[in-house]
Order: sequence, then structure tokens, then C-alpha cells
Amino acid sequence: MSLNVLVIGAGMGGLTAALALARRGHRVAVVDRVAELRPVGAAISVWSNGVKILKALGVGEALEQVSGEMQRMSYYTHDGARLTDFSLTPLYAEVGQRACPVARAALQQLLLDAVGAQAVTLGTACTGYRQDASGVTAHFDDGSERHADLLVIADGTHSRLREQALGRPVPRRYCGYVNWNVRVPASEDLAPLHDWVQYVGDHQRVSLMPMSGDPAHPEFYCFFDVPLPAGSDNDPARYRDELAHHFAGWAPPVQRLIARIDPAAMARVEIHDIDPLETLVAPRVAILGDAAHGMAPDLGQGGCQAMEDAWVLAEALETSSGAIDEALARYDAARVSRVGEIVSRARQRAETTHGADPAATRAWYAELAAEDGRHIMGGMRKTILGGPLG
Ligand code: FAD
Repeated sequence: MSLNVLVIGAGMGGLTAALALARRGHRVAVVDRVAELRPVGAAISVWSNGVKILKALGVGEALEQVSGEMQRMSYYTHDGARLTDFSLTPLYAEVGQRACPVARAALQQLLLDAVGAQAVTLGTACTGYRQDASGVTAHFDDGSERHADLLVIADGTHSRLREQALGRPVPRRYCGYVNWNVRVPASEDLAPLHDWVQYVGDHQRVSLMPMSGDPAHPEFYCFFDVPLPAGSDNDPARYRDELAHHFAGWAPPVQRLIARIDPAAMARVEIHDIDPLETLVAPRVAILGDAAHGMAPDLGQGGCQAMEDAWVLAEALETSSGAIDEALARYDAARVSRVGEIVSRARQRAETTHGADPAATRAWYAELAAEDGRHIMGGMRKTILGGPLG
């Protein structure tokens, strides 16, 4: 049965949902409040579970072409002593798919092209909806309304619509640290071109990840994490000085990186998450992506989980032959525990990395010095293989 589906939000969650539903024969319209889709943030690592979904939707090969080749992973102390360095090949072999670090803009464009620009309306914000026996009617800030059989709420971590769906406020919680992220031209004096390199110390972190599929213009996706109180100044003119201050005395590649960043192209984000939600559905409504499970980025899973949501929702409608209540119950049953567990693990990882309990962070640094890759890759394997496509 072909349904009329309205998706609010054209981020990677909303667009993947639109694609998954359209591939199953549903008629999908996407609406986003921004006039132009310009994702905030430099890049994203689509881990193997996310890539598997995109491959099943027919866009995974295109993703592989524009993403970086990340073959090894290493950790260094703040002053450049190696803690661990291992190949990611055994992980990719076991899970059957490599990871794809990619520019956010490239991922968004790829999804938009697959969905078709004609299905996406920009510059109109959804202000709420009402539900009745015939479906859902969404209201927009230009006074218009749209009726659909099913509403997909994919309006991101600040979602207001989820509060209407759940009937209660959903507070965001500060994770205690600030993340600056940016792309820089890759070069061997920063890190090996195919390695994901991280420096850790003083509860801070610097990361360089290969992210461009264009061998003529290799790039690193870089980020800097610093524990800071909430509400600190956010002034691009000060980014370089702030980073130079927080990372004074760190290894020479970190100093070179700070010298090379373009502060105007940098994003600075106070990292928040939300507590795991008890349900991701309401009558005729599915909540998806960051609206459903805004999480700390410390497992690199927020976007990948949005892709999994999209796949599971479309599958649930298929197996329920379009019976919407039944499909939503299936979606809820499949996703609440999966994403709740990942939100909690990402929060724990964020706390350990950023010194919520300094003794635990010291213990983690000691673990890294003893790590041969098996423990870290074991955690990644569990996350990846727990996805809907195994
Ligand atoms: P969004 O991308 O926020 O999209 C929501 C859309 O809804 C926006 O376009 C917005 O304009 C629109 N909208 C909002 N309100 C309305 C309204 N009322 N009406 C209409 N439209 C509306 N994930 C990974 O998988 N791997 C990573 O490596 C990774 N790294 C990250 C690093 C950082 C620093 C951060 C902060 C996050 C990271 N994530 C990562 C998480 C990932 O970015 C998010 O999970 C993902 O972007 C969520 O997509 P979304 O579509 O749910 O929400």
C-alpha cells in the first residue's frame, strides 16, 4: 500500500527516511525551515552500519567514491608519544564493510540527489500538527497546511515537534565539553594520509581523520575537544587563539594543525545529548534521527543511527503491509532499546574522554597504552553488527 508521507527536516535523517520510504513506493514530501541546506559541521564518519544502509538504498557506492580511506587508527599522548596504532582491516573484514568519513555537504548532496529536489520544500517551518482518524495535518509558519497518512519528525536535536508527539518537554543535557571541527588539506606532516590519529591528554582530545575521496585534494576532518563550562564565548575571530591556549605544549603536528585551520570555516559546538526516550512514536507519527536520540558524538553514531531508523521504519511499513499502527509499534520495538543503549554508551564515552571522573580518564589512558586494537575494534564491531543489516 502506498502511503502519503510528510517528513519534517531535510538533514541526513529526514533525507534517508525519504529515500527509504520512496524506494518502497510511498509518496514522500520533505519540508525544511532553512532556505538553503548548508549542514553545520565539517564532516562525519559514516561507520559500516550506516554505509550498509546507504548501500541497500542504492547510494553507498557513490558515498564510497567521495569518502576518505581510513585504514589505521592510532592514539598519542598530548606530547606525541604513541599509545597504540593498529590496522582497521580486521574490523572491516569482520563486519563486511569499511567506514566512510565524508564531508557533510557531500553526504547531504548525495542524499538530496537521490531523493530528488522536487520532493523537498525549503524555507518553511513546521509549527505543529493535529492528528485525526484520516491522518495528520501539519501547520507551517507561512500559514499553509499539509495532510499526510504518516508524519516523520526529523527536525534534529532541538526538535519542538517531538515535544508535541510525546506530550512533555525533552530537555537537552550539556555533556561538559566544546568541540571545534574543521577540514584542512591533508599532509604527512600532520598525520599519515590514511590513518585516523588522535592525541589525548588533560581530558582534551585532537583528532585527524582522512575524509576526501579525491586523491588530488586529500583532506583531514579535524576536531578539538575541550571541557568547558556551558555558555562560553563563541567568536570565530578567537578560535585560533583559544585552541593555541588550550593546546599549548602539545605535539608539533597539533601546533601545525592549529596554524593551518581556517577559523571562518570552523564549527564550534557545545556538545549536548538527551536522555533515552521511552517511545519514538505517537499515533500516525514516527520520531527519527537526532530528534529521537540526540547523542554525544563520541561513538560517531548519531547520523548512522538516523540511517538505521530510516531503514527500520520503511521495513516496518513493508512487513505490516501499510497498517500504520502496527508498523509504528514494530519501529518502536526495534529502535527504543537500540538507540537508548547507544545514547548511554556515547554519554559514558564522552565522560571518560573528557574527565568527568579524572581517575577513570587516567585509567583509560593506561588502557590505551596496553591496547593492541582488539578491545577498541570489539566495541565497534558490537555497535555495527547490532544494526538492522548486521
Ligand atoms: P539535523 O541534521 O539537525 O537536521 C534537522 C533538520 O530539520 C535541519 O535541516 C533543520 O533545519 C530542520 N528543522 C528543524 N526544525 C524544523 C521545523 N520546525 N520545520 C522544518 N524543518 C525544521 N554522527 C555520525 O554518524 N558519525 C559522526 O562521525 C558524527 N560526528 C559528529 C560530530 C559532531 C561534532 C556532532 C555535533 C555530531 C556528530 N554526529 C555524527 C551526529 C550527526 O551529526 C547527527 O546525528 C545528524 O546530523 C542528525 O541528523 P538529523 O537529520 O536527525 O538532524
